[in-house]
Amino acid sequence: MASHGPVTGKASLPPLIYRAEAYRDTDHFRETVWGCPHEHTTVEGALNCGQDWIGSQPETLTESA
Ligand SMILES: [Zn+2]
Repeated sequence: MASHGPVTGKASLPPLIYRAEAYRDTDHFRETVWGCPHEHTTVEGALNCGQDWIGSQPETLTESA
C-alpha cells in the first residue's frame, strides 16, 4: 500500500496561488529573470503585479503568471 505521508486528519484543498514571472523577450528558453514574492489569489492580481514591476524596469521583459 502506497504511503501518502502523514495524515493531518483534515482534508484541505491546496490554495490556488499565482505568481507573476518575467522573462526576457529575446530568451527563447524563457528563463525566468524575476518572480514576484507574493502569493496572489487571482491570476489578474499576479498579472497586474507583474505589469507594475515590468513597468519599472529599464529593459524589455515579458511576463507570465
Ligand atoms: Zn506579486
